[in-house]
Amino acid sequence: MNQLAYRSVLDRLRTQFPKPVSDRLHDAYFVFSILRALDHVDEMKSEVPLLGKMQELDYSAAEQERVGSEVSDVEHVSRSLVSKLEGMPIWGHPHTQINVVPPASIASIIGSLLPAIYNPNLVSDDTSFGLAEAEVAVSAMASDLVGYDASRSAGVFTFGGTGTALYGVKLGIEKAFPDAMENGIPNDGVLIASGQSHYCRLNVAGWLGLGEKNVVEIPTNLQNGIRVERLESAARQLLQEGRRIVAMIATMGSTDAFGIDDLGAIVALRDRLVAEYDLDYRPHIHADAVIGWAWSVFNDYDFEENTLGFRPRTIRALAGTCRNISQLPLADSIGIDFHKTGFTPYVSSLFLASDRADLQLLVRGREQMPYLFQSGERHPGVYTLETSPSGSGVLAAYANLQLFGIEGMRVLLGHLVEMAELLREHLEGHGFSTVLNSENFGTVTLFRVYPDGVDTWTVKDRELSDESARDELLAHNDYNRRVFRYMYDQAMDGQGAHISMTNCYRHTDYGEPIVALKSYMLSPFIDEKHVELLVHNVLDARKHIDETTQHPR
Ligand SMILES: *Cc1c(COP(=O)(O)O)cnc(C)c1O
Repeated sequence: MNQLAYRSVLDRLRTQFPKPVSDRLHDAYFVFSILRALDHVDEMKSEVPLLGKMQELDYSAAEQERVGSEVSDVEHVSRSLVSKLEGMPIWGHPHTQINVVPPASIASIIGSLLPAIYNPNLVSDDTSFGLAEAEVAVSAMASDLVGYDASRSAGVFTFGGTGTALYGVKLGIEKAFPDAMENGIPNDGVLIASGQSHYCRLNVAGWLGLGEKNVVEIPTNLQNGIRVERLESAARQLLQEGRRIVAMIATMGSTDAFGIDDLGAIVALRDRLVAEYDLDYRPHIHADAVIGWAWSVFNDYDFEENTLGFRPRTIRALAGTCRNISQLPLADSIGIDFHKTGFTPYVSSLFLASDRADLQLLVRGREQMPYLFQSGERHPGVYTLETSPSGSGVLAAYANLQLFGIEGMRVLLGHLVEMAELLREHLEGHGFSTVLNSENFGTVTLFRVYPDGVDTWTVKDRELSDESARDELLAHNDYNRRVFRYMYDQAMDGQGAHISMTNCYRHTDYGEPIVALKSYMLSPFIDEKHVELLVHNVLDARKHIDETTQHPR
């Protein structure tokens, strides 16, 4: 037997890594391999806003997969990888309006790719070098955007918007139950958020040991913001029962409707309660601004002068959002997703603490590790939940903040809001549809479509609050499901917009879910003609349904 038989295999394997020393020829092979993969992806494009076709997923075949016995090559492997993208929506396609998932800019993809090659570990600057600096830079840039004092605040990247909420609530736990990190928490802690806040409130409460049942949900008003008077009565009752409010989550841009809580009123309420009940802690206020943060770029836009030339309706929408978003600096901490309204790849989420001293509360074995922010070195690992945080999110965010600048972000968001407003104008102009979140001015539009003969001036209120309209509401829920299904089939045929549907935009006063069609615009390529096509698709769907059913009169 040849003693060095493995050598030839090793030689092949070596070609499959980037060269550790400068080798332009090998770099060309590396880049070409990526290019080949992109070519294969390109073959999956058509007039449909998807890669390839939507197909049944075959999990039983997947369970049969085993590791092969021999070395393969990048060509085969990348073919297989590319095939796994089959059925993916093309998020940058103007007909893709499904959810709050953006297309990533080229610069942010490079930002995401470089750490994949060189593997910085953000646990410490010993292992991340300039990336640690970039994390500080992005935190400062974002702090300044949202109105925090960047010399007092501090930021850390984490595993998603959910992670930012987890950090916020964890700070609250440490404030309400000092040394909870060491001792655990007693069972009288409670977390408060609106009924339309993201469901991650339950994850966070469950995983932090607070318990899902200790999350108190406050009803929202018709603008989908928390009802502050109900928050007040609930908080008072909890305090009277001797419970400790570890945190209140203010939702600054809800997922479905883009509802925004009145953060100023929540903070004022908290301060009043602390004084009145003489609390020995301050309930932490975390702003879940993972979607809404980006609107901060309009905080100092001169809406009167309007140098970018947005239409009056857009100006009103942007100014309406800024009224609340400009209150962000009042929060004790803020969650920001660059992978939502910042146009980066997943995962790029920043947790910002208004007061960097707060992060000291998260340090493990605090007595042994007194050096956080005290020496010149940065070791986020002493307080982060993660042990090996990736640098991709940091560099992707850093890329886009530099690339877009304030002006670029204003133009991207402003245009999307302009297109969403155009859609609303169309929908409101027709007798068969209503816009449900007309008081929320984001890039998401929730709407309902009705059969002929329904008075759309009154139907919205009736469905919402008149219990005798239950049957009508349920029939219309069904009608909208059918509209959605028809539009979906059309979209999969390359005939129109791929929107989504929410089974429960909110509950009626008598407890039934309201189904809504949902257009979430995030493609920079969307234009008037795409909006017009969407309206056309809705008309088609109605026509089709009316032709295939007889409506009882
Ligand atoms: C998306 C979303 C989250 C969760 O963020 P992930 O990045 O998906 O973990 C939390 N809150 C709101 C309001 C969201 O829209």
